[in-house]
Amino acid sequence: MSYLKYVLNKPSVAPCSSLKGIIQTLDKAQYKTFAQKNPLGVPVQGVKFTDPLKLIYMDKGNVSTECNIFRFMLPEINKPLGLRPGEYVTLKLSDLEDFRSYRPVSSIHDNGFLDLLVKVFSTDYSQRSIGEFTQRLDALKEGDPVYLTEVAGSMCYEGRGKFSICTEDEGMKEKIAKKVGLISEGTSITAMFQFLQAVEEDPVDLTAFSLVSLYGNPSDALLEDDLLRMQESGKISYFPVVESPDEMWTHGEGKISEALIESFMPEPDDPEGLILLSGSNQMTDDCIDILEKLGYNKDQYQIL
Ligand SMILES: Cc1cc2nc3c(=O)[nH]c(=O)nc-3n(C[C@H](O)[C@H](O)[C@H](O)COP(=O)(O)OP(=O)(O)OC[C@H]3O[C@@H](n4cnc5c(N)ncnc54)[C@H](O)[C@@H]3O)c2cc1C
Repeated sequence: MSYLKYVLNKPSVAPCSSLKGIIQTLDKAQYKTFAQKNPLGVPVQGVKFTDPLKLIYMDKGNVSTECNIFRFMLPEINKPLGLRPGEYVTLKLSDLEDFRSYRPVSSIHDNGFLDLLVKVFSTDYSQRSIGEFTQRLDALKEGDPVYLTEVAGSMCYEGRGKFSICTEDEGMKEKIAKKVGLISEGTSITAMFQFLQAVEEDPVDLTAFSLVSLYGNPSDALLEDDLLRMQESGKISYFPVVESPDEMWTHGEGKISEALIESFMPEPDDPEGLILLSGSNQMTDDCIDILEKLGYNKDQYQIL
């Protein structure tokens, strides 16, 4: 199922009847303080909540064999959370010490709810201690609380080609790009989806985005229909690549390569080009090796 279908299947973001009582108990004062500090978005370095913000789990929809969209209700149903594209949320479940970070797939303008696309690891966590958080998330019941402990990000997209980037060496810097190349792996597509939604939603934003998304096999490819639809706007180009294609697969095959970067990314000597990378350390290291070999300098790419 595409993300758009998931959204269209929800008649309204208003809480279902069983949640109506719960909304009264949400900590609205705490949310207002956050929203006031945050008219358009939070600072790139992030906001850590001393008292975590309580969200309410509403429901979920399956988007691939292993991934679900989880919908959470925000404290105020008429306001968005206030994130900017590139920022992420960190969640905690009530009975677990651990927390995990996610990049929302709902639009920054969506009022009253937050949608996360999460891969649920199926490993038996009682045996191997991996995958516990996502399995607990998957087992939530309508009305259960989850806690937002932090909103953060090392960079964000301000729109119309402008990025704010926070680096260890230089602190905050601004970058204006007319051509943006995105390379993601697996669920890291969520990071890229935020930028693509932003450019799609703003008719005046003519920045050209080109996405290469890497997966294991065709059934892992996420948000395909949504990305193909976005591609029709003409501002976005999209090329999924899988390591193990089947006979039906018509897009790219293999891993990240010089040929993919040369075909889909801005050129090394383009001062208005920027490449953003999101995925495993192995994947980003492989990309950087290729980018450096092709003559890109450090200002031209950024790991999310
Ligand atoms: C900024 C940021 C944004 C993120 N955004 C998203 C997002 O939008 N969506 C999303 O799904 N995730 C996202 N993540 C990852 C997320 O935070 C969690 O790490 C993820 O959900 C796994 O949590 P877990 O506790 O269930 O698994 P963990 O206990 O952390 O274990 C998962 C790890 O174990 C490995 N693993 C699992 N099963 C096996 C197995 N059978 N054999 C070997 N290895 C195995 C996995 O490869 C993975 O590395 C993001 C991470 C960061 C830092």
